[in-house]
Amino acid sequence: MIEIYSPTELQRAKASGRFIATVLQSLQERAKVGTNLLEIDRWTSEMIAEAGARSCYVDYDPSFGDGPFGHFICTSVNDAVLHGMPYDYALQDGDLLTLDLAASIQGIVADAAVSFIVGTSSDPSDSRMIETTRRALDAGIAAAIPGARIGDISHAVGSVLAAAGYQINTDFGGHGVGSTMHQDPHISNTGRPGRGYKLRPGLLLAIEPWVMLDTAELITDPDGWTLRSATGARTAHSEHTIAITEDGPVILTI
Ligand code: MG
Repeated sequence: MIEIYSPTELQRAKASGRFIATVLQSLQERAKVGTNLLEIDRWTSEMIAEAGARSCYVDYDPSFGDGPFGHFICTSVNDAVLHGMPYDYALQDGDLLTLDLAASIQGIVADAAVSFIVGTSSDPSDSRMIETTRRALDAGIAAAIPGARIGDISHAVGSVLAAAGYQINTDFGGHGVGSTMHQDPHISNTGRPGRGYKLRPGLLLAIEPWVMLDTAELITDPDGWTLRSATGARTAHSEHTIAITEDGPVILTI
């Protein structure tokens, strides 16, 4: 399913996007050495309730997961990269944490993710991975203009990741959003320009480059959800939801 939103509806989408951005910013400020992932989940749940928003995760039960997710945010630490299920773990200095959050307000979903280092010590290769996924995201967004195609976004994202020397996994990528979290079109993190669905004003897209330091292969954690790098290497992920408008892409989750 692909949904196209009117300019009035896009104003509602902006409220969802702002909410997601505000929560992620707040959590990033509160996540310190010693913070438990379950506290982050609880804070998220409280902010969702206060805003009258609706979680996309708590009841989420897709074919690739193991039963309803049961939590409000994905917390992926170090070698975990996608769908990190919160568990009883206190963050340590130098942990690389990815928070990925999707929720809807007034029926429109916004979805964003951010990776950052907890505490003070940091490995230059972590910073480089995070920075590369941000640049890939910027490039993907810049390519998301009316009349361009999904392949143009994929190509822009993939070119930045590949030029930095990372392998690209094509099992999970970006996606359309709207009344539900995962919609068509799928946005691979690599691809050929000029191919795929043609972008038009009113389309909402979540673009999400992610990489693992030395592999493109994932393994599933025994929790049935968390996806980790097959080599145990660390990982990074950056995501925004954007709206395609007549004037070009507008970032909603900012
Ligand atoms: Mg997401």
